[in-house]
Amino acid sequence: MGKCMIIGCGGVASVAIHKCCQNSEVFEGIMIASRTKSKCDALKEKLQPVTKTVIETAQVNADNVDELIELINSYKPDVVLNLALPYQDLTIMDACLATKTHYVDTANYEPLDTAKFEYKWQWAYREKFEKAGITALLGSGFDPGVTGVFSAYAMKHQFDEINYIDILDCNGGDHGYPFATNFNPEINIREVSAKGSYIENGKWVETEPMEIKRVYNFKGVGEKDMYLLHHEELESLALNIKGIKRIRFFMTFGQSYLTHLKCLENVGMTSIEPIMYEGREIVPLQFLKAVLPDPATLGARTVGKTNIGCIFRGKKDGKDKNYYLYNICDHQECYKEVGSQAVSYTTGVPAMIGAMMIMTGTWNKAGVYNIEEFDPDPFMDALNKWGLPWEEDFNPVLVD
Ligand code: NDP
Repeated sequence: MGKCMIIGCGGVASVAIHKCCQNSEVFEGIMIASRTKSKCDALKEKLQPVTKTVIETAQVNADNVDELIELINSYKPDVVLNLALPYQDLTIMDACLATKTHYVDTANYEPLDTAKFEYKWQWAYREKFEKAGITALLGSGFDPGVTGVFSAYAMKHQFDEINYIDILDCNGGDHGYPFATNFNPEINIREVSAKGSYIENGKWVETEPMEIKRVYNFKGVGEKDMYLLHHEELESLALNIKGIKRIRFFMTFGQSYLTHLKCLENVGMTSIEPIMYEGREIVPLQFLKAVLPDPATLGARTVGKTNIGCIFRGKKDGKDKNYYLYNICDHQECYKEVGSQAVSYTTGVPAMIGAMMIMTGTWNKAGVYNIEEFDPDPFMDALNKWGLPWEEDFNPVLVD
């Protein structure tokens, strides 16, 4: 069918690459291009003997638009799948524009020096992508990603209007370390140490970090503490889903994680302000990343399950209705299949599916779009087929 260039070769990319290689009919060729080429070569060595997908590798600095343009022009992919870091979104979008290549990512742009994610920078590219006749699919991971597809599916099939959405992200996995993050530590800690926020009646309501706590009994996992966080899909879902009055995002954290985080925060280790150390500027959070376990190595030791989904409350045929859509994913099963834990798996699978939707022309409109702006049905089918089956509950316990 076509060729995909995957930028980045970390935890999420590794899963997406395994999945592309399982799906050779669509992904005839992939190029893995990242900062550290040896990681790309190691994956190629593992996967090329067992896949029909033709794998190429390259070194690229994705902060450099010219380098990206040159590489895209030499490989001529149908789609670029950005699985590097949010800081690279705009340079990669610029290179896609210059080469008229479709673009897919899993996280919205964040400037390096302000831990604030919002879509305004990427939405500003709408007209340019439209004029160039290419698609940018934003947020094709799990959250954002599957949570948006779930919302579009609920809207299409279950509701006339959705008034309340609670997104619940539960990781019941245990890796045995006192403290480690399940995906890129820098991005993860920036996210959880920021102020919380949710949208109510069209306005953002801000909370202190971890101020709002609830307890929820997750199917497949059990009872967990969860905390309200700011999350990027709130911004787009509040615009794209009809009738929204309130939308919130909760993530589970264990007490040990929070105690370590507090301590690291109190001593200044989570700061993104550069400091001078032995004559050289360092960013404390980047240094912390260097001493923490690499999330890519957690797979073998993580046991338990994740349960991520959305509880919807709204109206159908004039009556109140509640509906919960979720996926349960087992860390060890993911590890057996692709050598990664479930947090990378639940992001990497939808990333592959998003690229597939664009490559096959199943989703085909020029411009910059969030995932809930496309027909959810083919994506929902693909989730069942490619390892993230979803479950429905028509009488869920609600979050107060
Ligand atoms: P990792 O840190 O494991 O991987 C990032 C990769 O990008 C690394 O291979 C890194 O190279 C490469 N990279 C970083 N900077 C550059 C650069 N300038 N040029 C080229 N390559 C670069 O991160 P994850 O795999 O955990 O996360 C990947 C993305 O997925 C992030 O944007 C994250 O926010 C997003 N994500 C989204 C989720 C969702 O549900 N939507 C959930 C989890 C993550 P090197 O190997 O040299 O370090």
